[in-house]
This record gives sequence, C-alpha cells and structure tokens, in this order.
Amino acid sequence: MEANSIVVVGSCMIDFTSYCDRLPKEGETIHGTEFKTAFGGKGGNQCVAAAKLGGNTIFVAKVGSDSWGVQYVENLKSLKVNSKFVQVTPDSTTGIAQINVASSGANQIVIIAGANKFLNEQDVENARDVITKADVVVCQLETSPEVAVKTLELCKGTSILNGAPALSACDSKLFTLPTIFCVNESEASVFINNPVHCLKDAENAIAILLSKGCNTVIITMGSEGSLLASKSSPVPKHIPTKSVNCIDSTGAGDAFIGSLAYLIANKKEYSLEKCVQIANYVAADSVTRIGTQASFPGPEILGHCTF
Ligand code: ATP
Repeated sequence: MEANSIVVVGSCMIDFTSYCDRLPKEGETIHGTEFKTAFGGKGGNQCVAAAKLGGNTIFVAKVGSDSWGVQYVENLKSLKVNSKFVQVTPDSTTGIAQINVASSGANQIVIIAGANKFLNEQDVENARDVITKADVVVCQLETSPEVAVKTLELCKGTSILNGAPALSACDSKLFTLPTIFCVNESEASVFINNPVHCLKDAENAIAILLSKGCNTVIITMGSEGSLLASKSSPVPKHIPTKSVNCIDSTGAGDAFIGSLAYLIANKKEYSLEKCVQIANYVAADSVTRIGTQASFPGPEILGHCTF
C-alpha cells in the first residue's frame, strides 16, 4: 500500500449521449446531430479527478460482463487508478446512462444501474485492508446506502460522503459517520426537505445538517462557490470560486470532490478551508471544457493556484 492513498467506493457508468435540435416527443423518432460515449458514474469520475491530479487512487466498484466493462477498466488503468477491486459481475451489464441533449440544453436521461446494483457490503469487506489504511475514503449514493455505511464504518482516515443522489429519508449514520458530508444545493434541499436556492437557504441547510449530526458540511453552489461549516466552527464560511467562461458544467461536483480528496491526502499542511478554495478552483477550471472525466485538469492546475 502506497502512502497518501485515496480509496473511492462507488459507481461506474458509460454515458451514451445523443445530441439533437430538440427532444423527441413520446413515440417519436427524430434524427440527432452527434453521438458521444464517455466513461462516467460519480464514483469513477471522482476517482479519476483525484488520479489526474496525481493522487494514488484505488477504486472499489463493479462492472458488467460486457465489452463496456472491459473498456472501463482499461480506461482506469490508463489513468493509473488501481483497479484491483473493480470486479466483473457475471450476467449483468455495466451501468449505463442514455442521455439526449437538445440544443437548448434540455435533456432526458435514463439510467440502468446494471452491475452497480450488485456492489455490496461483502465487496467493501474484501477491500477492508485498503480502506482502513487509506488517508482519504470517498463514497456516494449511486450505489446502495448500506455500501456507503459499511465503507464509512471501516474508514480510519478522513471520509467524504457525497450525498448524491440525495435521499429524503435515510440511515442517520450517513450524517454522523463521514468526516465531511458534501452535497450541492438541490441535494441539500432533499436531505433537509426544504428548498435551497440562495446563500441564505444554504446557510440554513448547513445548520439543519449539523443538527442531524454531520461533523463537517460542504454545500457546493455552482458559480457561487461553496459553503463550509463544522461542529466546532458552525458559522458557515462562504468560499467563492473563480469566475470563468462556463462551457459545460457536467461533472463539476465530481471534479470538486476528487480534488478535495487529493488535497486532503497529499497536502496535510493545508487547512480544510484552503483545500476547499483549491477544489473550487480545480472544479471551475473543469467547466471551461466539454465532457466529464475528459474535462478534469492534470497536476499543472495546482501550480496556477496562487492562494
Ligand atoms: P454537476 O451535477 O454539474 O456535476 P454539482 O451540481 O454537483 O455539479 P456544483 O455545485 O454545480 O456541483 O459545482 C461544484 C463546484 O464547481 C462549485 O462549488 C464551483 O467551485 C465549481 N463550479 C461549478 N460551476 C461553476 C461555474 N459556472 N463557474 C465557476 N465555478 C463553477
């Protein structure tokens, strides 16, 4: 086991995106303009974001017994992600997302969880050694909440739960176990059952999440940056992000989480506030390019941060 390791437990999906002038109506067939495939899934994206910065990453996940699964693992290997714990599930497809995007930006998405549904607590147990020795462990909720709970229970370093997709009712351990509970505005609103549209709402959401037992809460707010608060420092601190020309914000949240994990594991001298500031900067950089994993920057971005 190498030093400063980051273990990500979570989902992997293949994104099949069709671009068209408008979305088809029910029962209608239309010609699209372009088609792209990309490696995605929140777990895979966050792991790749950390790996591209130079992080020593290990991914715990499941792919299907199809050619997409083979390609997904090849992609991880090419990005130097340790895929020893990425298992092939027999008789299952790799997770897929079928996405239609209209020129207006409107979209339709159908997700088939496929092999992601089969990632279970035993798979987490099988990775016990690397999880307990990791500096940082990251999980999300595209795989089952039980997988997240088991992962968080095993972690002895810093744990980050990205509460996405959000749950309106969940095991309270999802709030109390992670060192850092991180969500965007819409996810925060589901967890607290109240709308979150502005900074004031997000400050209120943080107070509620802390009262539910969260240790540290981060709410990401797109071009407005992030809010950070913790049990010991409960007044939310607004950390603005860089002003950029946003081309495609898909995966910004994953760029943020992956870089936060990288910074906590590798820059132990930095405060959490400084890590959030830099993670904002990395995520802002990713929205200036098209794509998800393809838009995540390499380590050179860290040299451009002047704070
Ligand atoms: P997505 O679902 O699009 O992957 P998200 O909704 O989970 O992303 P956001 O809150 O939109 O996450 O973005 C995460 C971080 O990325 C923000 O905290 C911010 O630092 C950065 N970011 C996102 N959009 C912009 C933008 N338009 N300009 C600058 N920074 C941005």
